[in-house]
Amino acid sequence: MSKKNSTNPLVIILSLLLLLAIAYIIGTRNAKLPVEQTEQAPALQQDTANAATPSPLLTSAHDPTLADLGVRPDWTSLDLWQETITHDDFVDLLTNVYTVDDTWKRYITIHKDHAIIRTDTRIKDATYRLNFSHELSAASPERNWNAAGDLPPGSQQRPLAGVHIAIDPGHIGGQFAKLEERWFKIGNAQPVMEGNMTLTTAKIIKRQLQILGAKVYLIRKENKPVSLRRPADYRAEAEAKAASLGKTDEASITALQNKFFYRTGEIRERARRVNLAFRPDLVLCLHYNAESWADPANPTLTANNHYHVLLHGALTRSELAHDDERFEMLAKILQRSHDEEKPIGAYIAQGFAQFTGLPAYNYSPMSTRAVKININGVEGLWARNLIANRLYQCPVIFLEPYVMNNQEVFDRVQLGDYEGTKMINGSMRKSIYREYADSVTEALKAYYLDHRIIHEPMEDDDE
Ligand SMILES: [Zn+2]
Repeated sequence: MSKKNSTNPLVIILSLLLLLAIAYIIGTRNAKLPVEQTEQAPALQQDTANAATPSPLLTSAHDPTLADLGVRPDWTSLDLWQETITHDDFVDLLTNVYTVDDTWKRYITIHKDHAIIRTDTRIKDATYRLNFSHELSAASPERNWNAAGDLPPGSQQRPLAGVHIAIDPGHIGGQFAKLEERWFKIGNAQPVMEGNMTLTTAKIIKRQLQILGAKVYLIRKENKPVSLRRPADYRAEAEAKAASLGKTDEASITALQNKFFYRTGEIRERARRVNLAFRPDLVLCLHYNAESWADPANPTLTANNHYHVLLHGALTRSELAHDDERFEMLAKILQRSHDEEKPIGAYIAQGFAQFTGLPAYNYSPMSTRAVKININGVEGLWARNLIANRLYQCPVIFLEPYVMNNQEVFDRVQLGDYEGTKMINGSMRKSIYREYADSVTEALKAYYLDHRIIHEPMEDDDE
């Protein structure tokens, strides 16, 4: 809790300087002795296990206690949520949604009325104390977004009136599609580029949601990166990471530079802009799924075709070991994002089942990276920890319908977007883009009609 007391500011400054000095000394030691560090903190084994022969000069730049390109979080920002969640709700979300095994116990110790959370794993005793609520959990804790139940009334015509929705068309597309490995081509047919497909879909969804009253923001409007940084700008980070992995050959460094460009850095920049500028009530991450196509110039086709919908959760043991990812997970738990993601995700999963006719995709029950979310027997709803659904500071629904290298999907992509219906495999179908968009739009319409107060106008009302 933020307490205003009479502590001398000089004492605070001196304490901070002391902490910084300790952090520096320990940080320097870790750079030289990564193996010893793993013995002190077993949680770090996963991350530093690969750091067998690091160059001392470069490991100081790569911090294995943070996710790639991550920054050290300010744990005091969690003070907003002191005493807002009960012990039982916290444990339920932590164990049933946000983690896949018991390794969270290395970082979080649960007591009857509080939890002690490790904050900076480079420092042995650096912790944060979170006090639980003694009564019910807060229905609407502090947050920059509105759940459907928090909104002023909508109407039958405009059930999404005033709902702020950001649409993230997954990947970059265009001239970057090959680099980001979201490109394949069969013979003389048009290449299939996921980034272009998600943008086409996003524009249709935007139009449809606006008609229902939503304020919609496209996070990417062209088949270009949102970030201004290019692979060359990630050279230092890529070299440091490569050194920590013991793979300092040029091909490994280039691969890391590219990945930091098209995925890590690009998504971080999208999240930064959305969180700072738009602060939506909901983010929709649009994707098309694929199965391994091996050679992009001579791709393997598959008979499989399916949908699934992802919510945030299921941090793996190595992800939990990252101080920033653990912090971001806690912010999600304390904002109660899952309470909103779960029903919206269920409506959209049902929308896909109904409008696409596809079966649900199932991860292996033994999966160590996905958790099945059960709600009213809905199929195809899973939790996973992806950089996009973790960094957007509001409920995020991540969509994975259709398998691009399925023959029917490939044929439909070749037809492009069109009005009305065309004959596909013996039945009249909308364009794949409109079918995708309808699944999402109709699901959101139904969700807000069911979960928001709907104002029924009198006959002589104008509005
Ligand atoms: Zn994708």
